[in-house]
Amino acid sequence: MEQRMPAIFFGHGNPMNAIGQNSYTEAWSEIGRSVPRPKAILCVSAHWYIPAVAVTAMETPRTIHDFGGFPRELFEVQYPAPGSPELAGRVRELLGEGVHPDEGQWGLDHGTWSVLVHVFPEADVPVVQLSINETEPPEFHYELGKRLAPLRDEGVLVIGSGNIVHNLHTYAWGKHDVEPFDWAIRFDETVRNLIAGGDHAPVVSYETLGRDALLSVPTPDHYLPLLYIVGMADKGDEISFPVGGFDGGSISMTAVRVG
Ligand code: ZN
Repeated sequence: MEQRMPAIFFGHGNPMNAIGQNSYTEAWSEIGRSVPRPKAILCVSAHWYIPAVAVTAMETPRTIHDFGGFPRELFEVQYPAPGSPELAGRVRELLGEGVHPDEGQWGLDHGTWSVLVHVFPEADVPVVQLSINETEPPEFHYELGKRLAPLRDEGVLVIGSGNIVHNLHTYAWGKHDVEPFDWAIRFDETVRNLIAGGDHAPVVSYETLGRDALLSVPTPDHYLPLLYIVGMADKGDEISFPVGGFDGGSISMTAVRVG
């Protein structure tokens, strides 16, 4: 049997992290050095949030610059990792034929590449993206994570890319040293503690966690990738948080490593 792979949730934050160097990007590089070399990566990105479950199935996914108002340097970033039609097929085996194989609509969005340029800078590990079906409740995403768990024994590194706390209304753009909001700190800590304790039910039904949750997760897109990673955890897995901290007061950069 292959060496069991961890599953990792990354808080990606500001797209500018792709071309910057800071404590977050250094921690991401360190994660890349610490994991067994994967055969392929499956990434659930907050930025492929559509009314369907789809998986990128092309040989060479394009780098998508899915944002506006950033410097040209960021638009020039390319992450030329190959795709893996084979892994896309395996994902459809695990999740069902209803999963749409995407041959060219999507590619790699910045939720994926802004992190991977630091984790695997050589872009030599094949990458496949899985969309988040925006019409489905949180339990659905947690269940998909469970069904993807066998990939951990097949040399595939599954990553989720979003942010546990992601409130852009209160975000101080680009200012890393702004004091985080108290509700943001509390919610991030609550979620961490629940995951560390193996108490997944309230992490999944996060909407029941009160006002802190409402402020921290005003829309589900950046939170849901976490549920895939939590769903892949086994009872015996070590849980760690290799990245922490807040950006702009209301984006938590917490990373969660399972296994
Ligand atoms: Zn984002």
